[in-house]
Amino acid sequence: MEDLERHLDELGDRGLLRRMRLVSGPQGPRVLLDGRPVLLLCSNNYLGLADHRRVREAAVDAARRWGVGAGASRLISGNMTIHRRLEEELAEFKGAERCVLFGSGYLANTGVVAALARPGGVVISDELNHASLVDGCRLAGAETLIYRHADLAHLERRLREAAGRASLIVTDGVFSMDGDVAPLGGIVELARRHGARVLVDEAHGTGAVGPDGRGAAAAAGVAEEVDVVVGTLGKALGSYGAYACCDETTARYLVNSARTLIFSTALPPPAVAAALAALAVVRAEPERVARLARNARLLREGLRAEGVDVAASGTQIVPLVVGSAGAATGASERALERGVFAQAIRPPTVPEGTSRLRLSVMASHTRSELRQAARAVAESLPPGKLSRPEAPLEGRAIAAAA
Ligand SMILES: *Cc1c(COP(=O)(O)O)cnc(C)c1O
Repeated sequence: MEDLERHLDELGDRGLLRRMRLVSGPQGPRVLLDGRPVLLLCSNNYLGLADHRRVREAAVDAARRWGVGAGASRLISGNMTIHRRLEEELAEFKGAERCVLFGSGYLANTGVVAALARPGGVVISDELNHASLVDGCRLAGAETLIYRHADLAHLERRLREAAGRASLIVTDGVFSMDGDVAPLGGIVELARRHGARVLVDEAHGTGAVGPDGRGAAAAAGVAEEVDVVVGTLGKALGSYGAYACCDETTARYLVNSARTLIFSTALPPPAVAAALAALAVVRAEPERVARLARNARLLREGLRAEGVDVAASGTQIVPLVVGSAGAATGASERALERGVFAQAIRPPTVPEGTSRLRLSVMASHTRSELRQAARAVAESLPPGKLSRPEAPLEGRAIAAAA
């Protein structure tokens, strides 16, 4: 055990030790964190569906009707009617021919990338992709080429290097730690020209961006040209599990090749029913998606008015890069003292020297909560992160009027 303790000590010395904080009660815009009430500013429960009445009731009903477990993998005896229904609804929502459920977004990405990027082929991956896509590349038999973040020219160079081999481009739709959106129009265009497949991970896009929350690919008008869209049920949809939307052949291929689907138990019926109910709420109440976008704008305006240098990204994810791991945890602790929970994100989740507070808003935050959050966060950042002298006075007026 000494080696493990030494490793932990080393992480501690570098300011990289992690620990889990404890939330009591359901996930809402405010939670009890380690026993203290805080405003939650780092949840992916973007639309407030994790504790929505109809979504909870759907899970309870499903437990009564179908039990709590599927009992086996989908290919043995775990494939239940409720799984089929959710796949049909998701395919329709995404405008895809077929949809295949997976145990989680992590399992979907590792399983789908490894299945599609076969030996002799090439997988071409954005340098800021989520760890689950990175691990999919590691598991794949194909060679991995990395391209600079959202850099189409560099992507094209990689496609030329891959010429003559089966190529798969993989990218986050909305980047999880930066909140920016991949240049999907350009990526699809390059893929078409070079005969490559495209996989887009819509973990932070589904339910959050695009027309009625259909995702970043739909926003770019290329949903039909993306070969595989992966998404999670655990973020905006408030439940647990994940899916891959694709055409009929790819779906049949995944069922026969994706090891994380084949060798893992099917999703529990209550989680599936909850996702179905959440999807119905998203479709019936698209104003939730609009409110999320409005809240993201309000938080940015509030931060700017407090003199905070807000990055250009326009989604519900607002990264405030402070540099060192220590600076990020310090800022997070100070925000917590002011009643706001904004998690510090450090390496290896983000590159060395780009530790940050990653703020994420929810549709269920109120204007005054967002104002309070902006003030608390601004007061907690290291001084260099503030550009107070340049903060225009009308910026403050906007915040005050919001
Ligand atoms: C959260 C996340 C995943 C993993 O999804 P889970 O369902 O939580 O396993 C995959 N990709 C991205 C971009 C994510 O942010």
